[in-house]
Amino acid sequence: MTVDALSTTTTLNLGPARALSCRECGHEIPLAPEFACPECFGPLEVAYDFAGVTRERIEAGPKSIWRYASLLPVPTNVTEHPNTEPGLTRLVRAERLGKELGIKKLWVKDDTGNPTHSFKDRVVAVALAAARELGFTVLACPSTGNLANAVAAAAARAGWRSVVLVPSSLEKAKIQMTAVYGGTLIAVNGTYDDVNRLATELAAEEEDWAFVNVNVRPYYAEGSKTLGYEVAEQLGWRLPEQIVVPVASGSQLTKVDKAFGELGKLGLVEPTAYRMFGAQATGCSPVSTAYAEGHDVVRPVRPDTIARSLAIGNPADGPYVLDSVRRTGGAVADVSDDEVVDAIRLLARTEGIFAETAGGVTVATARKLVETGKLDPDAETVLLITGDGLKTLDAVADHVGPTATVDISTAAVREALKQS
Ligand SMILES: *Cc1c(COP(=O)(O)O)cnc(C)c1O
Ligand SMILES: [Zn+2]
Repeated sequence: MTVDALSTTTTLNLGPARALSCRECGHEIPLAPEFACPECFGPLEVAYDFAGVTRERIEAGPKSIWRYASLLPVPTNVTEHPNTEPGLTRLVRAERLGKELGIKKLWVKDDTGNPTHSFKDRVVAVALAAARELGFTVLACPSTGNLANAVAAAAARAGWRSVVLVPSSLEKAKIQMTAVYGGTLIAVNGTYDDVNRLATELAAEEEDWAFVNVNVRPYYAEGSKTLGYEVAEQLGWRLPEQIVVPVASGSQLTKVDKAFGELGKLGLVEPTAYRMFGAQATGCSPVSTAYAEGHDVVRPVRPDTIARSLAIGNPADGPYVLDSVRRTGGAVADVSDDEVVDAIRLLARTEGIFAETAGGVTVATARKLVETGKLDPDAETVLLITGDGLKTLDAVADHVGPTATVDISTAAVREALKQS
C-alpha cells in the first residue's frame, strides 16, 4: 500500500471500517468503491477496527439498524443525513408454528416490517450511507423487485436520483412499487442476467453512479449483518442455536454468520455454538445441490421457481455459504414450489404473518430439515422471514379466497358456517 493511498483513506469517515480485504487471498486495499481484488479478482469485503462497542451504547441508540452504526462501514454521524430507517423488526416467539413443525423453541424474525417490506432496505440503507461518503450522487441497481423497491425509496428519502434497471418481463406490481417513488426506472428487454451485465458495464462508465450491488457491493453486503445483531439482542444478548436463512446470492447467510462471530469476539454475547442453515427453492437450488453432492464449487443453473427474489442461478457467495454451513454443522436444503405455497399459508394461519415466496422457502425448508434429522427439534431455532406476501400475491391467488359468497341473510351465513 502506498503512502498516498493511506492518506486518502484517512480522509474518509466510514466509522470502524479499516480496509477492503480479499476473501480469497487476504490482500488488503484502502477503502474505495472497489469490489474485486486487484491481485486475484476475488470478492472484497470490509475489514474493521472496532472500538468502544458496548451493549449499553447500542441499546441507547436509534430504534433502527443505525443502533449498530459502530459495527458498520458508515460515517459515525450517519443519522444526520436523510436515509431510510430499516431494522429493529420484531422477533416473534412462534409457538403455534413450532408445534406444526415439531420445533419446541422457535422464533420468527419478521422482516416484512421494513420501509419497503423486505430485508433489502437494510443493505440499501448501508450502501447509501457509504456511497455518500465515497462521493457518489446517484443510487442505482439491477434488480428483480425487492432491491428496486428499496433503492427507489431510499434515494427518494435522501433526495438523490435513482436509476433502476429491471427485466421488462417483471410483474406489474413490482414495477409500480418501484416507479411510485419517482426515480428513473428502465425496463430492459432481456433476462435478469442480461440486466446484471448491462449494470456492470454502466458502472464502469458512469462515475457518479453507485450500483448498490455492483460497485459498492462490499459496503451494501455488510447491511445484512444487522439481522444477526438484532436476533442476538432481541434474544437477550445471546446467539440462537440454529438459524435458517434464505439463499439467493448467499450474501445474507454469510453476513449473519459474520455478525454472530463479531458479537462473540467483542464480548457482546457468550460465543456459544450455533448452526447455519440455508434454504433454497428446488427450481433454483445450485447451493443446495453442491451441498448434497459434497462439492466446494457451485454449478450455475437456469432458475425456474415462483420464489423470484431468490432466483439467482449463479450465486456469487455460494461457496462461502457452503463454508459457513459446513463449519458450523448446519446444512442447505431445497423445497418445491408447492411446498413453498403450503408454507406461506401455514405461517399465515399459525402466526398471522404473511410472507412472500422467499419466506415460504424458509419455513418449508425448516420443516424438511426437521424431517430429515438435520435440524435439532430441541434446539432454539430462528427462521428469517425476509419479505412481505403482498409482493407475491400471485403465488397464493389460486389457493385462497372467500369461504363462501352469500346473499344478505343471517340464514345464508349460518349455512355457510355449517359447511366450512
Ligand atoms: C434478496 C433477498 C434474499 C437473499 O439475499 P442474498 O443475500 O442475495 O442471499 C432473501 N429474501 C428476500 C426477500 C430477498 O429479496
Ligand atoms: Zn485476492
